[in-house]
Amino acid sequence: RKQGSARQGQLSPEKLAQKVDAQMSLMVQLFEFSESERRLRDLLVTLFQEVFLEFFPGSAVLPFGSSVNGFNVSGCDLDLFLDLEKTKNFQASAKRPSGDLKPRRDAASQSSQHWARQRNTLTQDKNSLFQMHLLLQAEDGASVELDSCSEDSILSDIDLASATVPEVLELVAAVMRKCVPGVHNVQAVLTARRPVVKFWHKESGLRGDISINNKLAICNTRFLQLCTEMDERVRPLVYVVRYWAKQQALAGPLLNNYALTLLVLFFLQTRTPPILPTVSVLTLLCSLVEEEHTVVDGWDCSFPKDSARLEPSGNKEDLCSLLSEFFRVFEDYDFAGCVISLWEGRPLPLPSFLSSSEAGSKLKLGPFNLQDPFEQSHNVAANVNEKTALRFQHCCCNAAKYCRSLQYQRKSSKGKIWGLVRLFQPGATELLGQAGDFHLLWFQKVCASVAFVLRDMLKCSCVEVGQGLGEEQEVSEVKQEEEELEAKTQQLSVGSKRPLDEGGSNVSLPESMTWNCAVWHRVWLGRRRIRRQLQGPEPETQQQKANSLELEAKVSEAISQQECEARPTDPLFQFTVCAQASRSGTSREQDTRISLRFSTDPEQASVFQEFFHFLQGFLPRMVEQHLVSKA
Ligand code: ATP
Ligand code: MG
Repeated sequence: RKQGSARQGQLSPEKLAQKVDAQMSLMVQLFEFSESERRLRDLLVTLFQEVFLEFFPGSAVLPFGSSVNGFNVSGCDLDLFLDLEKTKNFQASAKRPSGDLKPRRDAASQSSQHWARQRNTLTQDKNSLFQMHLLLQAEDGASVELDSCSEDSILSDIDLASATVPEVLELVAAVMRKCVPGVHNVQAVLTARRPVVKFWHKESGLRGDISINNKLAICNTRFLQLCTEMDERVRPLVYVVRYWAKQQALAGPLLNNYALTLLVLFFLQTRTPPILPTVSVLTLLCSLVEEEHTVVDGWDCSFPKDSARLEPSGNKEDLCSLLSEFFRVFEDYDFAGCVISLWEGRPLPLPSFLSSSEAGSKLKLGPFNLQDPFEQSHNVAANVNEKTALRFQHCCCNAAKYCRSLQYQRKSSKGKIWGLVRLFQPGATELLGQAGDFHLLWFQKVCASVAFVLRDMLKCSCVEVGQGLGEEQEVSEVKQEEEELEAKTQQLSVGSKRPLDEGGSNVSLPESMTWNCAVWHRVWLGRRRIRRQLQGPEPETQQQKANSLELEAKVSEAISQQECEARPTDPLFQFTVCAQASRSGTSREQDTRISLRFSTDPEQASVFQEFFHFLQGFLPRMVEQHLVSKA
């Protein structure tokens, strides 16, 4: 079930909690992978480890990225780092002139055959993963020792110290193709900044990458993990921002999950008081607690290993407001004019950044500058082009607007989509933020329903005579209750109840509509009797209730026929009705009520009063039903 929810990318509103904070936490539970998936991943890592140890003595297979950084999603890719450091050392020592260790070239093929046999057995069996587990356990006792495996390795084929990354990766790919059970679609992608071997593991359905020379990934993964341990708000916030970006088609190769995660962490560093410390503070703390310093590729990657030794943040902001603030902060952020630094926990203005450090001169600047926390000459968002950067801001802007509405903050008592669900609808907040004024779209729909009731149900002649911006004609007024209107807003509710000070309408939707109407028969008299006749003696069934629009039209028809067969030459009376979108509102919410102002000739006032009295009950009810039937 968990996997289903995450893969479909949908959250059922019924499952969602009553508050945005709870929705956010629930989202983590729905998306994170299960314990069995965790075990499955561990098993796969062990499998790779076992195989690679056969060929690369002393090597280590280390998972990084979403499998282990605290932001896992069911089915996410399996990022692996093949650490060949010890193998390199081993090879160097084996090459020393003692001359005893003669590499045997046939050893590799023997080993390959052994694994190929295992693979065949495994892939034929439905329970192969279980068997794989057993196999690994069986192999455990016989795991290859550094010394004993020297003759069994394929190291004689390559000199790790002088081989290029593509050469090593091609060898890794060959080992995977031939010797890792259940692995398919093995492909070395050598053009990427960090070349990888891609694979797909059939039985588990998992896809993954293996890279070498990527120790920094292990460090930054551990750093992300530490951040999740430091404050429990980190995970829900990152999950939501990642998912939001995915739904808005922002996340992808240009702006990937790593970059998005760093942006959230940076945001948390810049709250007052900060929710997360800067990376430089963490490095300093590492020195103070006398932990060993870690330097990778010349970059200081030291930070305390144990989050329990760190002071918790005094910041008490809740998740709901943090998310809203995230969008507010980045809706008009100068991404191009500065470099976002997690090391310092502040944006660094370009001129000073460029002049102040060597890393500055090497960092690839672009429309979105987000410095890696450790590899400071690397812009993790270097692939982001201007269009994506602008779209990111645009989406943040719409999301920020939505987050200011009551619809975001509060569960709707009318069952309308609210909170995160609406935020995740692709394009929904965009519509809200755009000129498209839902209030007026709503008005249009109600007007169409009013015309339908007058024309089709009450058999009035009804001619639309004008649209405009608020002309008023006063005789009497029907105010449709806000509650009634809300109940019909399932599809349009997005436009209602939004704060008045947000985005006025730029589109030319009319705010008023006028019809000239003529009434030909006393359709308000004796309706109950005729309705009973049409319905029969039985009490109203659910089906009949559902068909009441049709029934009411038949009742009017029957009354007209009773009065006279043909239409009289003159109407009983005429009136004008002007519908107007309400612009009043004492609260910050926009008023969704629509005023209907009726005017008639004073000479026809008494008959009109009878009709109007009937309309007061009939019209709102039927408009509501009509809107619901159209929803
Ligand atoms: P996903 O579920 O999308 O795989 P993830 O948490 O694994 O999410 P990735 O974007 O796959 O995130 O990144 C995984 C790791 O790859 C990061 O921890 C980082 O080490 C490395 N990485 C990814 N993108 C970059 C980048 N732009 N610059 C530097 N390192 C990166
Ligand atoms: Mg990944």
